Amino acid sequence: MMLAGCDANVDVNIKGEPTAEEAKAFVAAVEKDFAEKSVFASRVFWVQANFMTEDTNAMAAEVGAEMTALAVKYANDAKKFNDLTLDAELRRKLEILKLGITLPAPSNEADNKELATISAKLDSMYATGKAPDGRTLGELSDVMANSRDPQELLKAWTGWRTISPAMKDKYARMVEIANKGAKELGYSDVGYMWRAGYDMPADDFRAEADRLWGQVKPLYDSLHCHVRAKLNDKYGDEVVPLDQPIPAHLLGNMWAQEWGNIYDVVAPEGSDIGYDLTAALKEKGYDAKKMVKTGEQFFTSLGLDPLPDTFWTRSLITKPRDREVQCHASAWDIDNKDDIRIKMCTKVNADDFQTVHHELGHNYYQRAYKNQSILHQGGANDGFHEAIGDAIALSITPDYLKQLGLIDTVPGPESDLGLLMRRAMDKVAFLPFGLMVDQWRWQVFNGELTPETYNDGWWALREKYQGIRPPVDRAADDFDPGAKYHIPGNTPYMRYFLARVLQFQFHKAACAEAGFDGPLHRCTIYGNEDVGKKLNAMLEMGASKPWPDALEAFTGTRQMDGGAVLEYFAPLKDWLDEQNKGRTCGW
Ligand SMILES: [Zn+2]
Repeated sequence: MMLAGCDANVDVNIKGEPTAEEAKAFVAAVEKDFAEKSVFASRVFWVQANFMTEDTNAMAAEVGAEMTALAVKYANDAKKFNDLTLDAELRRKLEILKLGITLPAPSNEADNKELATISAKLDSMYATGKAPDGRTLGELSDVMANSRDPQELLKAWTGWRTISPAMKDKYARMVEIANKGAKELGYSDVGYMWRAGYDMPADDFRAEADRLWGQVKPLYDSLHCHVRAKLNDKYGDEVVPLDQPIPAHLLGNMWAQEWGNIYDVVAPEGSDIGYDLTAALKEKGYDAKKMVKTGEQFFTSLGLDPLPDTFWTRSLITKPRDREVQCHASAWDIDNKDDIRIKMCTKVNADDFQTVHHELGHNYYQRAYKNQSILHQGGANDGFHEAIGDAIALSITPDYLKQLGLIDTVPGPESDLGLLMRRAMDKVAFLPFGLMVDQWRWQVFNGELTPETYNDGWWALREKYQGIRPPVDRAADDFDPGAKYHIPGNTPYMRYFLARVLQFQFHKAACAEAGFDGPLHRCTIYGNEDVGKKLNAMLEMGASKPWPDALEAFTGTRQMDGGAVLEYFAPLKDWLDEQNKGRTCGW
């Protein structure tokens, strides 16, 4: 849901003690206002992302600032009903109003304006950032992915981190102002607010995230040990000492967050994956539209409705030749009903085939909960929204690709190890990174870290959770967190950690529902309408109930569980532990 435009239409002028009746009327009026204003705002943002010019950027910034001001006003108004006993649904909506703001502005206009200015500035510093030699993030990322020359990698790695020292003071000021806004809303700090959005006390959520990490950590440790040994084989003791964290520039990714790009360095011998999906898509004449149609067909095979006609006339599916667009893939719900779209500069390759399913997962979720009132239109928690399409994409197995006619024969079990390793390099390697980004921000927002310790604190967490270290000493004024989009962009990150756990949990539950009894990584739920029905039961609930209720509707359990990750990768874990015999693991 997005909201925007004009001034607030709802005034709360309550004399004396507020009543439950007034709370109800207030929420109804706010929902009506949001429903109207969000459509206009969504259109402005859509136009900006599809036609990026000075003018559309300015229009989007203006609408964005108005939206924030409106959200802050309603969140502050909602506070007035804090002490009332209300029915669960109404109480939940008031909480969503208060917690729905990522960066709460204080109510005074000067602070609000300064916060908006700083966040816009940080955003553009990141978007326009370049290495000293003029290379863009895209160019530097290609080097990180493809080069195997440590000096070249180091130059790209340090080059990108020159964009962020200048962000540090602004970031610190932004933290100060946003914390003031959080206090006005009755929270100790912004990090506390972020943790409070999970239907449990904020401190319990901290423990919950640690619990999930504890479940999957042994698998990560085994992967880390093997990858470090292979990197040591390749680069030698000088570059990769076996008793230390892995230097962050050797893992194929600017942030060492996903390692799939160096699969060639760690590929198990004699375990060829057996097919090349990118080549198959090209050979069979797939274009961007056919990629998306194939994604849609997966969802309709589960008994869900086809996408509306407007999806096909209004989405952006290929990169236009004659104008600037925001190519980062995204899914949209313009009118909170049926006007769902994706915006994606689709390329015909295996990665984008996955991404199509990810984005359509958002669209199918959005449409499923369209009959909820507007404050309940959202994911059960923010991890759910990111996990749906990825869970579906776990069903893109060789067996499914054969059903599509993309490959002729399903490779035998000897290929499983390669497939699992390739997948683990992205999905398992990501887990500690997904967790530590907001661990860092929690410490920043609650004052445990100060501008002087921002960078050291970042690397302490990188080492603790990921077992990686900076390849060169970092200077006192460096600000390496700022070189990751979601920090200057102020996008909470815990959702990605949760989604990596949940997608395997969803996949496992779906495969059980389908009666599949082979290994999880071989299961596809393609064509199973019973699974579709159960899935839809969860999606339709949106954010109307606490997330354990939604989880239960689909999986039958009320706890998030990393066990499915372990089960999925179990054959790989056995193999890794065999390889790691005689090695010293850990850091
Ligand atoms: Zn997404």
